[in-house]
Amino acid sequence: MNSILLSLIDTHAHLCSPEFDHDLGEVLARARAAGVGAVIAVGETLADAERNLDLAEKLPMVKPAAGLYPTFLDPDQAAAMVEFIRRHREKLSAIGEVGLDYWAVKAEADRELQREIFKNFIRLSGELGLPLNVHSRSAGRHVVAMLLEEGATRVQLHAFDGKSSAALPAVEAGYFFSIPPSVVRSRQKQKLVKHLPLSCLLVETDSPVLGPEPGVRNEPANLPLAIRAIAEIKSLPEQSVAEAVSENTARLYGSLLSIS
Ligand SMILES: [Zn+2]
Repeated sequence: MNSILLSLIDTHAHLCSPEFDHDLGEVLARARAAGVGAVIAVGETLADAERNLDLAEKLPMVKPAAGLYPTFLDPDQAAAMVEFIRRHREKLSAIGEVGLDYWAVKAEADRELQREIFKNFIRLSGELGLPLNVHSRSAGRHVVAMLLEEGATRVQLHAFDGKSSAALPAVEAGYFFSIPPSVVRSRQKQKLVKHLPLSCLLVETDSPVLGPEPGVRNEPANLPLAIRAIAEIKSLPEQSVAEAVSENTARLYGSLLSIS
């Protein structure tokens, strides 16, 4: 199993979370033992982005990303993040996480600002050639529509909470959907996996959340659980799923993720 999964990449995890402060080395050692070769370390703030770059200097498995979480509705913070991403473009593997959250943000004026900030990150992605690592909650159709409207080409929709019908235009556009270990307990994620083609699926953990058990710290070593669940739902061998997912990850991230 380990040799099969050796090149698996956790495409979305919050390694900068304080929940990993005391044992990140051990967490990554367990991930490696489980066949995870690299982890895309997303962030929610400028402080997270800086921490991700620091972690990547010390820990070669960590592939840093930078983004502003969609509930931060502050144009100054957004501008500072855009500037940070430009300055560190060569070190970054992705812009994320960014996106829309209509569950947390309800007022139309606030949503308008959220869309404006997201639009700037989409444009930056095109300009710099960096993939977008996208959060959407209760806003699946809106996120997909905006990405298409802006002509985004390199897109990962993380933990997509919409219906597969909302996902299909994104599949047609060549966007990818990352499946977390919580798929083992989420009917919605199981349906998504069932209806989307294997050629658009990636895996992630969203550590420290979205693990197999609610309320228990999730970590990248749980990544194979997502592979196993996809294999079961699609009635395919785990090896085929692992290979397809690895190829998909390479198609989206390519040389941005040199595995050491
Ligand atoms: Zn996340």
